[in-house]
Amino acid sequence: MKKMLKWCLFQTYSYGGYKMEREFMEFDVVIVGAGPAGLSASIKLMQQAKANQQDLNVCVIDKGSEVGAHILSGAIIEPTALNELFPDWQERNAPLNTPVTEDEVYLFTSETRAIKMPNFVVPKTMHNQGNYIASLGNFCRWLAVQAEDMGVEIFPGFSASEIIYDADGCVKGVITGDMGVSETGEQKDSYMPGMELRAKYTLFAEGCRGSLGKELQQKFNLAKDTDAQHYGLGIKELWDVAPENHQEGLVVHGSGWPLVKGSSGGFFLYHTENNQVVVGLIVDLNYSNPYMSPFDEFQRLKHHPTIAKVLQGGKRVSYGARAITKGGLNALPKLTFAGGMIIGCNAGTLNFAKIKGSHTAMKSGMLAAESVFAALNDDSHVEGEELVDFDGRFKSSWLYDELYRSRSFGPALHKFGLMVGGAFNFIDQNIFSGKLPFTIRDNHADHEQLKLASDCQPISYPKPDGVLSFDKLSSVFISNTNHEEDQLCHLKLKDKSIPIDVNLAKFDEPAQRYCPAGVYEVVETDGQPQLQINGQNCLHCKTCDIKDPMQNITWVVPEGAGGPNYPNM
Ligand SMILES: Cc1cc2nc3c(=O)[nH]c(=O)nc-3n(C[C@H](O)[C@H](O)[C@H](O)COP(=O)(O)OP(=O)(O)OC[C@H]3O[C@@H](n4cnc5c(N)ncnc54)[C@H](O)[C@@H]3O)c2cc1C
Ligand code: SF4
Repeated sequence: MKKMLKWCLFQTYSYGGYKMEREFMEFDVVIVGAGPAGLSASIKLMQQAKANQQDLNVCVIDKGSEVGAHILSGAIIEPTALNELFPDWQERNAPLNTPVTEDEVYLFTSETRAIKMPNFVVPKTMHNQGNYIASLGNFCRWLAVQAEDMGVEIFPGFSASEIIYDADGCVKGVITGDMGVSETGEQKDSYMPGMELRAKYTLFAEGCRGSLGKELQQKFNLAKDTDAQHYGLGIKELWDVAPENHQEGLVVHGSGWPLVKGSSGGFFLYHTENNQVVVGLIVDLNYSNPYMSPFDEFQRLKHHPTIAKVLQGGKRVSYGARAITKGGLNALPKLTFAGGMIIGCNAGTLNFAKIKGSHTAMKSGMLAAESVFAALNDDSHVEGEELVDFDGRFKSSWLYDELYRSRSFGPALHKFGLMVGGAFNFIDQNIFSGKLPFTIRDNHADHEQLKLASDCQPISYPKPDGVLSFDKLSSVFISNTNHEEDQLCHLKLKDKSIPIDVNLAKFDEPAQRYCPAGVYEVVETDGQPQLQINGQNCLHCKTCDIKDPMQNITWVVPEGAGGPNYPNM
């Protein structure tokens, strides 16, 4: 059941000439996003408060209908941060039930052929001994229970839609989205104005390409000294498979086909508990052919014999998609500003050399919590003053060390391709442990990489067979995505003419293909092409906000609780 925000106070404010009342609540710390970063930050805050016998008032909100509803990951979880947060996590029944027993890495050389890489040529960051295959959604549900037991107030079903700034520009909390506003902007009978959640410090843990994180990066110019950020789109399915095809604990990674000629990325296939496997493809969003459809690449990937032999006879049970932030240390913005911080994948703490971001997101949240707690207890610290000590904590942590050692991994693949880049990464990681005395950089933004459609070959994708491969609509159906239909569209176009006049003319409107939920369609009205936006299908993956070549699409939060309802992704 959706929890209600309680014990509110009221404040009158003016809106379009009308006097309105907005409720507000006050906290020491407000955290936006109940993913690994946000929840770990909340727990670390409470642990410090308990150790110092203090009361601390911490609130976490999440736009999903429940904690975990919007979490989609692989996931292989490296327990480094968890061991620090809860050394007794096993006694606390953390849902990490499947230790990795074996790693396999493949290079797919064609749609039927594969080379299995000997373990010794695989970068050591890709080895998974000591890690666990798990559902990150379920792991977050467990973290939320631990947090609530310590007194953290968690409110799922509430989107943070606006940032509160004081007169000096210091962040003072967030405003949750209004509910009950119609498609045309009118207040419906169900209208409820959003609520102010005021805080001494606000942590933004929205995950990859957070809408408020994006605003903060621009407002405080946080990325001014960094390289361009890079992203991938991860598309994933969960399958029940025949017991004879299942090997619990087996982790399979690979690259190559079908991502060839101007595209790159990699697939994963993890054999988790209960005769289930997760299969997915991460497509780097710097691909150049506008005809590329990551969804269709994933569907045809499953027909490769190495994967098909596992899925054959099984049943697909869930589908979803989510972008990942993968630029690493070179692209990591400044994390602090007056009144708060951005943490986890909202900033870009994922370690791409390991293809893992949950342990690093957790650690960034824990370090942020240390800085916030120190500030709250420092009489000489003015409330909301920037947490300048964070930089020192970060630079002396294993998180920084990890990100430093993997800083060239992604750029090497982007610049030199799979074979040469892969060879460099092997030498860099296995021989020099990521400490070569130079850094490879890629400063070209993903959305600038599309070539003109007229310079590219259309890609003809096979029709889905309904057994291993499926269409977008039936896929979205099993993501349990649901949005209140009569609400303002949360996919904002800065200029309504661009999709047809520029994107269709130059790039055959790539949104029709990069969106893994079929939200964007070019339809004909009175003989004229028009962009139709089916916002209710949106999986909140954020790809459109990232890849639109003109940066014309802004993803903002829809009404709270809308979006996918992933069971255990
Ligand atoms: C396909 C795929 C495979 C991956 N595989 C692995 C893996 O094997 N191992 C690994 O360690 N990592 C993996 N990752 C990366 C990992 O999932 C992320 O690094 C991790 O989830 C980041 O945690 P986070 O807390 O920063 O953000 P998230 O986990 O994205 O959580 C953010 C939360 O904030 C909420 N939110 C966002 N905006 C708002 C708002 N405005 N208001 C309210 N709530 C909001 C969201 O609903 C969400 O619950 C994978 C990612 C993908 C996409
Ligand atoms: S509309 Fe954008 S955020 Fe939503 S599923 Fe499509 S690409 Fe992802």
